[in-house]
Amino acid sequence: MSDTSRLAQFYRQPEIYITLPGSQFYPEGTLELSATGEIPVYPMTAKDDIAIKTPDALISGEAVVQVISSCIPSITDPWQMPATDVDFALIAIRIASFGDEMELEYTCSNEECGEEFKVGVNLNQYIEHLGNIDISYEATLINYGDLKIHIKPLTYFDLSLIQRRSFEEQRAMEAASQMEELSEEEKQQAYQVILNNLTELNITSITSGVQGIELPDGEVVTKKEEIVDFVNNTSVKLYRKITDAITTIRETTDLKPIDAQCPECKNSMEVPLLFDYANFFV
Ligand SMILES: [Zn+2]
Repeated sequence: MSDTSRLAQFYRQPEIYITLPGSQFYPEGTLELSATGEIPVYPMTAKDDIAIKTPDALISGEAVVQVISSCIPSITDPWQMPATDVDFALIAIRIASFGDEMELEYTCSNEECGEEFKVGVNLNQYIEHLGNIDISYEATLINYGDLKIHIKPLTYFDLSLIQRRSFEEQRAMEAASQMEELSEEEKQQAYQVILNNLTELNITSITSGVQGIELPDGEVVTKKEEIVDFVNNTSVKLYRKITDAITTIRETTDLKPIDAQCPECKNSMEVPLLFDYANFFV
């Protein structure tokens, strides 16, 4: 007897197919592409729905990883996907689960008004726009003397880690400022430690955006420690160039804000589509 349930054929089916904007940045073996480059997106299950509304799982990134694994199985390791694809993937999952029309609630930015109102958004436009983006090879390459620096978006893992650590350092900063038993000198020492950690964190985030450094003979250095040492021992000029390139890549996949007008005072404002995940998936 087969161990497949007779109900299996009635399990969820893909609702839409998408083309990932950052498909060239997935490490080998973490993305299964069809011949057309399109990948299927399934609706969320009840388990996914609960995960995406669990605050702790959201903060750690676990919830996002679980939901993407479940609904876009072609992405076999969501931690390794470019962070720039994450919002796009979640919009696709929202469409597959609940359809492409969505109502968002806003509060008028005019302080004297403060009216709360709803704006209808069609999510398909984001999928169409972002699905057609092609990040050029030139945008990912920096010439630096005889070296070529290859740039990539941060992985979701790197981004989550950096966000979490910078949040912790900020908390440590606040805690130190409120510790009355510390002398002024001890406080300065505590600040210095936190500042050093934040600087190190910044450099980590920059080096996470370096795919590899190509030597004049064509060999590419990809070892993380070697890249970190190199960035620590080169001019700030290169550091800035890398930061700019990472920003440019990120901006190509940024979601356009929504133009909204307050029905009460007619104040026009731009509001972000995303993202409070817990509210996005209602
Ligand atoms: Zn208003």
